[in-house]
Amino acid sequence: MKALVKAKSEKGLWMQDVPVPEIAPNEVLIRIERTAICGTDMHIYKWDEWAQNNVPVPMVVGHEYGGTVEAIGSTVTRVKVGERVSGEGHVVGNRSRNARAGRFHLDPDTKGIGVNLPGAFAEYLALPEFNVIPLGDDFDIEIAAILDPLGNAVHTALAHDLVGEDVLITGAGPIGIMAARVCERAGARRIVLTDINDWRLDFAKTVTRRTTMVNTMDQDLKAVMSDIGMTEGFDVGLEMSGAKPAFDQMLDTMLMGGQMAMLGIPASPYPVDLGKIVGKALTLKGIYGRQMYETWHKMLAMIDSGLDMKAMITHRFAARDFQDAFDLMETGKTGKVILDWTQV
Ligand SMILES: [Zn+2]
Repeated sequence: MKALVKAKSEKGLWMQDVPVPEIAPNEVLIRIERTAICGTDMHIYKWDEWAQNNVPVPMVVGHEYGGTVEAIGSTVTRVKVGERVSGEGHVVGNRSRNARAGRFHLDPDTKGIGVNLPGAFAEYLALPEFNVIPLGDDFDIEIAAILDPLGNAVHTALAHDLVGEDVLITGAGPIGIMAARVCERAGARRIVLTDINDWRLDFAKTVTRRTTMVNTMDQDLKAVMSDIGMTEGFDVGLEMSGAKPAFDQMLDTMLMGGQMAMLGIPASPYPVDLGKIVGKALTLKGIYGRQMYETWHKMLAMIDSGLDMKAMITHRFAARDFQDAFDLMETGKTGKVILDWTQV
């Protein structure tokens, strides 16, 4: 089969012929139809320090996908051949305290599809039955390919009660934008999304309905807050940028006793004014991945009840034209970019 492989320890990915994965008795073979490119894939493509430290070479990459079940192992009972599926990209163990207690998303033995297990940028993917998410025959295959990042957005947004709350989201990458839309659907009152990139904020307007966009390079966040009728601070903060200035701004504008969820990963450690966290009695929660499988349940239920994320998809390429897609991703001027694996 064709697969996109991190074949050399240098910038790039290479389309190669590799064997179709053999499935274990508890695994499912998925014929991949669409994939989406993630920021993680860009780290691996560019071969930055994080990628060099975390990704063995060679490795088939990619973890955002939708496809159809091609074959099932001998002990598989929940998933059927021919079903449309996506899947959880974190493969957990069964030894740690958290895994034994059912807190699978907190298992320290987690391995990542397309990071340290063979990935989904391929014609076929082998995945444990436990990780397979059946979607129904009429589920949009492109949406199937972006459920992984949408799950990050849902998990972060729903970490705290949103009903009637004022929410600050820092970082208008795809997950920040999707989180804003989730906050709208989940009943938040005012939602403010900040970034320093006008293209991203303009694009975010096409996905969201009633979120206020703020470019913090040329707009004063506190002035915007008073413009939209805020007299106190934000009740909930979702940090999606990993950038110190955004985090500092969030600390400055949170209400006393506010709740913050942290998804953005800083490129390098930065100092934090802990006195503000203590003085404002803030609660910070780190978010990693998605909750297995409660996030998937909530996300699919929200989609079922009208959460439409189609506008997040801005570009589509045949898988054979992957290089064009990665070149475009490098410009930063994209929403989600889809690769079509029926065109290899
Ligand atoms: Zn991803």
